[in-house]
Amino acid sequence: MITFFASHCSPFRQLLPFLGVLMLAGCGKAPVVNSGADDKPPVIVTTTTMITDLVKQVGGDLFEIKPLMSAGVDPHLYKPTAEDVNKITKAKVVIYGGLHLEGRMVEIFERLNPAEKITLSLGDSLPVDVRIPIAGLLYDPHIWGDAKLWAQTVPALVATLVKASPTHKEEIELRGREAQKSLMGLHSWLKMRSDLLAPEQRVLVTSHDAFQYFGRAYGFEVVGVQGISTDSEAGLKDIARVIDLVRGRKVKAIFIESSVSPAVIQRIAKDSGVAIGGELFSDALGIPGAMVDVGDEGKVDQGTLEGMLKSNMTTIINALKP
Ligand SMILES: [Zn+2]
Repeated sequence: MITFFASHCSPFRQLLPFLGVLMLAGCGKAPVVNSGADDKPPVIVTTTTMITDLVKQVGGDLFEIKPLMSAGVDPHLYKPTAEDVNKITKAKVVIYGGLHLEGRMVEIFERLNPAEKITLSLGDSLPVDVRIPIAGLLYDPHIWGDAKLWAQTVPALVATLVKASPTHKEEIELRGREAQKSLMGLHSWLKMRSDLLAPEQRVLVTSHDAFQYFGRAYGFEVVGVQGISTDSEAGLKDIARVIDLVRGRKVKAIFIESSVSPAVIQRIAKDSGVAIGGELFSDALGIPGAMVDVGDEGKVDQGTLEGMLKSNMTTIINALKP
């Protein structure tokens, strides 16, 4: 299907088999790509809310940012709409997570013509030796759980934005340095907070396996009931395995995730008698402007990566501390 459609005409022929909008196939014109030569800022399409947050920090008002996903949306299962196709067609730049984060959409992004569209996969921009290898998908895509690692994607993002808007090179580079500095500050805060729990209390049980980078950075043993992606349901064997672990290790609480159905965690809590410690943000930020209390620091906005990670750490510590 893909090669058949990819032969000529618009590069978006490749999207059509995925989107089920075959009625649009009779195109004759090349897509309108914002050249950036006029007064309008170049258009950037971003996928998840974490990526949008980072691109906003580094790109600011120099770009028009058009996100595909909003709060609470699961990227693994995301299906692009006709409006999304329109956004991608008109964009100059597409920035995504890669490493199979966005399910089948990654395939679409990888097939975009580099002569017509600037693309960046933040996950693929990281050196292989800092990624967590996993069976089947090669590497775990949930890199934003480690603020220091997320900061390491900034140089590739800066280079991409400079390519899209060379006249703003200095400003973009300055913003990039500020974003990295702020992420390193966040990393220190998270490390300091995680030290409030003894090592044996740091067992993090969640719906799907989205916290391995978070666990590696902040010293948690992480157990996801489902695998790395949410595209297959947890089986009885997975549930039994987690119930055994929760009982054996005397885990005090387990956690639901904002972008995944709570059913499996609720069932484990019911069957094992363990408490539900609250809701964590895994693959999407919270509602922009929704404030959450994180102790000494006061309140943070759940709609930012800083707010997301601080909110998660606070929820985890409050639920797992003796
Ligand atoms: Zn995930």
